[in-house]
Amino acid sequence: MSMYVFKDKQRKIKFYAKDATKENRDIRFYCPNPYCDAHMYICGVDGLSAAYFSANRQNHPHINGCSYGSPNNFNASEYDENAFDFENVLEALMTPSQSTIRKETPGPHKTGDPTKKPFRTIRQVYDMCKSFDPADTYSGVEIGQMIVDDRSEYMYPKGVFRKRIIEGQAKGQFYNSIKKEITISAPIKSRKYSFVLNAQGA
Ligand SMILES: [Zn+2]
Repeated sequence: MSMYVFKDKQRKIKFYAKDATKENRDIRFYCPNPYCDAHMYICGVDGLSAAYFSANRQNHPHINGCSYGSPNNFNASEYDENAFDFENVLEALMTPSQSTIRKETPGPHKTGDPTKKPFRTIRQVYDMCKSFDPADTYSGVEIGQMIVDDRSEYMYPKGVFRKRIIEGQAKGQFYNSIKKEITISAPIKSRKYSFVLNAQGA
């Protein structure tokens, strides 16, 4: 699902789920992925949960692997946006012992809505980032300042200098067992940058 779509095939007129009304229910919208011809429709526009777009017509699904399609499980209604803190989520993910402690004492930073779940995995944050436009904000942080992908590349003209979620692909040999390194190219289309994950580093 996605929190935004385009009204036109050229993907020039952006349309947000939060601006949709009941009158939009039968209108076909375009997937943000320019390579995907999914027919997207607004859902939940008259319900209690947040509205979102879905390719819910049988004959017009997303292409395989489309990040706005079924692999994306983000449901805005399930998460407490106000309690989300990108830096804290990343920190918790990278320090396993601390994240275990935090699970026992929920809400150490911002006290959130107990009926909603916090972000616990990279996948959850990634899906959230892909659901929104890179220029959008989530809990006050610009999406493009959390994820580096083809959409947000323009925000990184000289490189990526802080902790970000990187959407990339393996570069040559994925894992170098001698150097204990994984190399990826990112973003996927431009492959502008190389990132090396080194197990011996730190
Ligand atoms: Zn799609």
